[in-house]
Amino acid sequence: MSVAQNLQHIIAQLPEGVNLVAVSKFHPIEKIMEAYKAGQRIFGENRAQELATKAPQMPTDIEWHFIGHLQKNKVRMIMPWASTIQSIDSVELLQLVNKEAARINRHVNVLLQLHVAKEQTKSGFTVEEILNTANEGAFDNLSNVTICGVMAMATFTDDMTQVASEFELVHNTFLTLRDKNFASNTEFKQISMGMSDDWPIAVKHGATLVRIGTDIFGAREY
Ligand SMILES: *Cc1c(COP(=O)(O)O)cnc(C)c1O
Repeated sequence: MSVAQNLQHIIAQLPEGVNLVAVSKFHPIEKIMEAYKAGQRIFGENRAQELATKAPQMPTDIEWHFIGHLQKNKVRMIMPWASTIQSIDSVELLQLVNKEAARINRHVNVLLQLHVAKEQTKSGFTVEEILNTANEGAFDNLSNVTICGVMAMATFTDDMTQVASEFELVHNTFLTLRDKNFASNTEFKQISMGMSDDWPIAVKHGATLVRIGTDIFGAREY
């Protein structure tokens, strides 16, 4: 199937209010343009250099989401291009993003990344950390950043019961944060979870953004 057909197939299954981030990492501009021509406008990249190289070559009405681990020394590189940084995994990174956005007079949306998977290699706040950090006020009063919700990845496993329970934990943590810490922030409404192998489960558990690469563009060449 073509990129356009793959997109259509996925979008037809997404409930109202759930949006698709087409994860274009490792795929060339021509392939991304196929998705763009089919109407896709939100794309996800996970490497700073790759985003900074691709974005200037693509139409300006694209919303680029940065979804990978973001090193502090790469924040400046992506700041002109990212409309949303989904992978905020520390207060220090959040403050730096705010500062760099202010420096170029820009506003950026962010999601707080939650670590719920078993792999230690994945990054993000644990549930306990994010709740404590929110209660300490570390997510308040950022001039150039809007915190729009949470992002997470499930454990890489065939055990879909495990995956479902992790997504449920993300959903519950989102609700706690929203009601307790972000009650006055009407933009705090996004739950980004679900990839090619598990997005239908994520949608069942409250995802509002799914991040899909392989099911749209085919296998990546590493
Ligand atoms: C690569 C990636 C995806 C998409 O993965 P697929 O399995 O190709 O759909 C989603 N989220 C993040 C954070 C990724 O790095």
